[in-house]
Parts: sequence; C-alpha cells; structure tokens
Amino acid sequence: MDEDKARLVKIIFSIACVVIAVTLFFVLNKPLGGGAGGDRNTKYLLCTNEECGASQKLTKDEYYDLLVQAGSPRMVMNMAFICSTCGEETAYKADKCIKCQTIFLQDLETDDYSDRCPDCGHSKEEERIRNLK
Ligand SMILES: [Zn+2]
Ligand SMILES: [Zn+2]
Repeated sequence: MDEDKARLVKIIFSIACVVIAVTLFFVLNKPLGGGAGGDRNTKYLLCTNEECGASQKLTKDEYYDLLVQAGSPRMVMNMAFICSTCGEETAYKADKCIKCQTIFLQDLETDDYSDRCPDCGHSKEEERIRNLK
C-alpha cells in the first residue's frame, strides 16, 4: 500500500516536472513584441561614462539576466546598468544603426524619431513609417 502510494507520488511528480519544463520552454521562447527582424536577439549597452564609453553586445538571455540582477525582469526606460568595462552604473540600453553600425543611445526627449542615428541620420522607425505609406 505505502509502496504504491510512493510510486504514485513519484509519477505525479515527474509529470509535474515535464509540465513545468514544457511551460517554461514556451514562455521563454515566446517572442517579445512580435514582428520579424533577426536582430531582436541582440541587445546593446553603451556606457555614458566620459572616460569609458564602452559598448557591450549582449544576447537576449544575457540582457535578461542583467535585468533580473538589477531587480526588474521587465524593461524600464532609461535603466542604468553596470558597465562591464569600468564597473560604474552608467551603461544604458543602446541601439545599433543598421546602416553604419554605430552604437548610440536613443534620444527619448526629442521631437524627432528617437532612434535616429547621430552619425548618419538613419532611423528605422522613420523608414518603417515611410514604407507604410
Ligand atoms: Zn564604462
Ligand atoms: Zn548610422
């Protein structure tokens, strides 16, 4: 009797494990925000420390780990991260220009497109809207 019970518990436990694993698999693989674009798995950080200015390339997972470490699994606008080069909390999420490969910070205060590249003036958002017309 007790042995049967123990076996049953084991079976239920392993089924639960599988269910949890499958659920996690789907949750983690769910694309955030949807839409196409191969670059969504690459994130960039740019250090605003004048003496540093290092940029960091991260995978989505590494970026997520940083968010968790910073205490928020959700993206917070203008959240400061610790720069891996200088160790100061001066690194921010950056964008990479698809035209000239410059890594830059979005200017969220601007009336213009915030993702406009400061180097060559290209804006993904501007182009997207232009293509809609
Ligand atoms: Zn730095
Ligand atoms: Zn550019």
